Amino acid sequence: MCNHAIITHVTSTVRSRQLGRRAMLGGALAGAALLASPVRPSGARRQLAPRAGEVFDLTHALSAAFPVYPGYTPFSATVTSTIDGIGSLSRQVTLEEHVGTHVDAPAHFIGDGDDVSEIPAGRLVAPLAVIDISARARDDADATVQPDDILAWEDEHGELPAGAFVAMSSGWDRRADDPDAYLNIGEDGLLHFPAWSPSAAAFLIEERDIVGVGVDTISMDNTTSPFFESHVILLGAGRYGVENLAALGEVPAAGATIVVGAPRFVGGSGGPARVLAIT
Ligand SMILES: [Zn+2]
Repeated sequence: MCNHAIITHVTSTVRSRQLGRRAMLGGALAGAALLASPVRPSGARRQLAPRAGEVFDLTHALSAAFPVYPGYTPFSATVTSTIDGIGSLSRQVTLEEHVGTHVDAPAHFIGDGDDVSEIPAGRLVAPLAVIDISARARDDADATVQPDDILAWEDEHGELPAGAFVAMSSGWDRRADDPDAYLNIGEDGLLHFPAWSPSAAAFLIEERDIVGVGVDTISMDNTTSPFFESHVILLGAGRYGVENLAALGEVPAAGATIVVGAPRFVGGSGGPARVLAIT
């Protein structure tokens, strides 16, 4: 299915689901008013109040032991100079652009998409929204973020701020020390981990203003979207992704700012990043 067809299909599906939800929540008149304007009714916004100035590291430490997506080469490092030898330590590292906590640039899936050096700096600092599906992920390794999860977040915190970075928190980051548990390869030979649904990705592109999307798992797509539909929708719309995020469960659901330290590899499809959240 092509990118446009995917977006058209999931957007119409989402719209019909929104209609149902809004009718239930506020009656037909309120639903019509909401459809006419994307602005939430005043008083809907209710932010948490995190301690100002707190910095959260959303980055996994990267070593050869960090789990990698099948087909990729694990991180490795060779010492090329030592303090005992020539007076300074340096290593030559080998890394795939998609190992560890890393950015997916549009060029990862889109032929003429921006490479990682071309992502505007202004998009790498953004209001952070954390959507927690950890309760569902405990029972269902293939759980995905649905449009209703975004709407439930908005019921509590107000509409996603313009230019938001929206991250899925599934609790999966706590498995990263155990590659078998993190990759969770089933008897079917497939990886099973939480991710974004294409319908939620399309909702963010069509109905909201976002700069990017994150996951605390190894990919934005899981077995429920085997053709990487969420990647295609998000990267095809010029947004970027961040995979293998850590510690999202400790960050306020709303009110923090994310700083994505993407590398500027010319021609790069992405690359390892230091990612911080600041309240
Ligand atoms: Zn990637």
